[in-house]
Amino acid sequence: GLKRQVITVHIGQAGVQMGNAVWNLYGMEHGIGRDGCLTTPAGPVNDACPAEHSTFYKETVAGKYIPRTVMVDLEPTVVDQIRSGPDRSLYHPDQLISGKEDAANNFARGYHTEGRSYLQQVLEGIRLFAESSEGVQGFIVFHSMGGGTGSGLTSLVSESLRQDYAKKSNLEVLVYPAPKVSTAVVEPYNALLVSHKTLDTTDCAFMVDNEAIYDISAGKLDVERPMYPNLNRIISQVVSSITASLRFPGTLNVDINEFQTNLVPFPRVHFPLLAYAPFASAQRSAHQRPPIVDLTAACFEPGNQLFKLDESEHAASKYIACCMLYRGDVVAKDINHAIRHIRDTKGLEFVEWCPTGFKVGINCRPPVAAVSPDDELVGGGRAVCMMSNTTAIAGAWTRLCHKFDLMFRKRAFIHWYESEGMEKDDFILARENIEVLRHDYRELVPTPATIKTESLVSDKTSPGFRGLAERSGRTNFLQGDFEPSAIAEI
Ligand code: GDP
Repeated sequence: GLKRQVITVHIGQAGVQMGNAVWNLYGMEHGIGRDGCLTTPAGPVNDACPAEHSTFYKETVAGKYIPRTVMVDLEPTVVDQIRSGPDRSLYHPDQLISGKEDAANNFARGYHTEGRSYLQQVLEGIRLFAESSEGVQGFIVFHSMGGGTGSGLTSLVSESLRQDYAKKSNLEVLVYPAPKVSTAVVEPYNALLVSHKTLDTTDCAFMVDNEAIYDISAGKLDVERPMYPNLNRIISQVVSSITASLRFPGTLNVDINEFQTNLVPFPRVHFPLLAYAPFASAQRSAHQRPPIVDLTAACFEPGNQLFKLDESEHAASKYIACCMLYRGDVVAKDINHAIRHIRDTKGLEFVEWCPTGFKVGINCRPPVAAVSPDDELVGGGRAVCMMSNTTAIAGAWTRLCHKFDLMFRKRAFIHWYESEGMEKDDFILARENIEVLRHDYRELVPTPATIKTESLVSDKTSPGFRGLAERSGRTNFLQGDFEPSAIAEI
């Protein structure tokens, strides 16, 4: 049937850089060149699986395709790179928005001061795409939780979207601050503040843990020193799988609204864990067609998941729902067999009130072989992306709250936020709301999960991660290698 349109918003450095990677990959998959003109699609041309450009691209009278997206950063560097890079003519100048001064890793600057002055421009950009759509089905907002723009301006945008487009679904792809990758010590503050602000304005949020994808890049894809582009390419492949059903036909296609319906039993419990298989480097992808049973099983391995959770978090957890999105050369019979096998051997535990568990989709389009000559992630003929709503994800909040508390107990760095119009009560309110969220997750499991905070804050720093932040070239006044535990002792 006719697909309705999706508008994508990229906010802050991480948001825009992920956007760059995602639109690059979409372009390859759709056969839309970096100038917006049609080219030959990558991979085997498959007439039986035609691309539906209109969900994500707007066609101009001249026959060019423009990504339905707005990118915004409060500082110019990252957006300028797009303006002067190979994708400069893919976008209309109005959909690339940048300011002069960044949010200094401060939620308050993104929400109350700097960011607020760009809100209208962002909303205007979104409105233009909405007006030229036959019908908007929803939004996907990309951002970091730890950055000032990614947290603050995203909160504003999310509130406005809920207000202006109340019935449309609001999805998010967000970068969770990894202890080893974080560029600023205050990221736990920003992350908790944005989580609080968007908890009621977002329908489904996919958290990606930089530490997890760093390890995938280094460990499975043999990248010696992973940098943001390497991490973003992994994210883009997974996002492509999530949105494939909106862009290509399939025998058992699961629409984005449908998987939301299946995954989110209560509005606040909306943070599915992502996993993907195969992660195969050029060297290692000797056999291009891994058996479905292997791909399926891989999704349950922590090493294939985009979020790092403790053993103890996994052990005490239960699944609420599980959505498996296969793409490429896959048949239902093999999937049924694979899932039965997983059920029998892995002993997956589902919550009592949700016995069915698995939702399966098959999309005809395989992942593209490689986006660029230096691409380390090689798509084979088939892949699977798992989205599981598991109570284990509550560990993400446990960890954040712990770090937040260590700083907030001393009121560390609070004056930076107060000088931009925030009050201590804003922090207390956010912290309480997330405590309730943790409680929401615990409530889903009959026997309260015992989550040990001590074991979750291992902060062993690897030089690789520090280097990552340095190499990104960002310097902000709050940047540093402070350990949260050190701050608690100030
Ligand atoms: P903002 O521009 O003020 O929103 O700040 P950032 O987006 O740079 O936020 C900092 C957080 O985002 C840190 O946790 C970084 O590790 C992470 N980050 C920054 N850029 C990227 C990127 O391109 N990819 C990924 N995966 N993470 C990023």
